[in-house]
Amino acid sequence: MFKVCIDPGHGGSDRSNRGPSCYVEADGVLAISKYLKEELESTGQFQAILTRDRDKTLTLTERGRIAARNKVDLFISQHTNAGPKGAGGTEVYYSVDIPGDRELAAKLSAAVAQVLGIQDRGAKTSESTRYPGEDYYTVIDKAQDGGVPHVLLIESAFHSNPDEERLLLQDENLRKIAQAQAKVICEFFGVQYSQQANVYIVQSGDTLWGIAQKFKTTVEEIVKLNSISNPSLIHPGQELIVGSIEVDKVQPAPQPENGDEKVRELQHILNMLHITDTNGKVLVEDGLYGPATTSAVKKFQGIAGIQVDGSAGPQTMGVIKQILAMPVTKRGSKGAVVRYIQFRVGVGIDGIFGPKTEAIVKKFQSANGLVADGIVGSKTWKELIG
Ligand SMILES: [Zn+2]
Repeated sequence: MFKVCIDPGHGGSDRSNRGPSCYVEADGVLAISKYLKEELESTGQFQAILTRDRDKTLTLTERGRIAARNKVDLFISQHTNAGPKGAGGTEVYYSVDIPGDRELAAKLSAAVAQVLGIQDRGAKTSESTRYPGEDYYTVIDKAQDGGVPHVLLIESAFHSNPDEERLLLQDENLRKIAQAQAKVICEFFGVQYSQQANVYIVQSGDTLWGIAQKFKTTVEEIVKLNSISNPSLIHPGQELIVGSIEVDKVQPAPQPENGDEKVRELQHILNMLHITDTNGKVLVEDGLYGPATTSAVKKFQGIAGIQVDGSAGPQTMGVIKQILAMPVTKRGSKGAVVRYIQFRVGVGIDGIFGPKTEAIVKKFQSANGLVADGIVGSKTWKELIG
């Protein structure tokens, strides 16, 4: 487990950094920080600590010390920039005392600039003129002096630039910034990262158009992700994969041949896992990798929070294997297996086994005549699978 400290800059009595219209840096960077925490923790490999999780005053020294005290592997302070008219782009500062972070800083800068479509100003470092050998930025200096091995400060965009302020005012872009950062951080620590796929359960009265609006996506995207044949036919209780997954960039894994025994086995497993096709139908175990099987695989991938491409590649088979191993899962557990359990017991899918999931698991256990201890052990697993 890696520990990361995310520091949303400013806040509390320090809310004066603003864009020309209505963007407030303290709020924008708090949103980015919360998203980054979510993205990193969704991998099950990170614990992310926020220096503040609300609008609160914190000194720069306190921020650096929080990171040092928690002995984190990485500290990253989140900011947006201000500068002369026309200035724009992303830049990332690293500590003068940790020159090895230059590459990580450069990658972060490039990734964020790319998702926003703005200039990549690259990796920078800034030495104090008063104290040569020390960092100009207090927050970097304190974290580094406190022994944090990797210390960064990111300026994701220029809020002083009206075009970039417009980008920062869209919540969707703040999420994209966090995802771009998460991807680079995961790569740095050798952790596999895939953007979270959201699963939405259709409520009565919903339309695809309304759902698309709600998740800031398009009807076409939802239709494509879920292999829906008739967009006017959705029904309450149907699970839909929503959210912006870069479908086109996914390299589909080689699919087993049609009529294959392996496909039949996959269909059998999906049936055991209660993963139905997009119309809620149990799969026919015919060994043919057609639209129904593809849609069931996509649904499973959405539930597991892995890349949704409809092909049963190594990542998908890996998660299936994890589930079939029926690991003891309880309060505090995280990741794809928890997501699957949440899907089966019918609680919001976030991959974190918290009090709400525990309560629903207990209910599920009682309903199935098991000891309601909230721990998913072999007996509960046997009710969930098969
Ligand atoms: Zn700032």
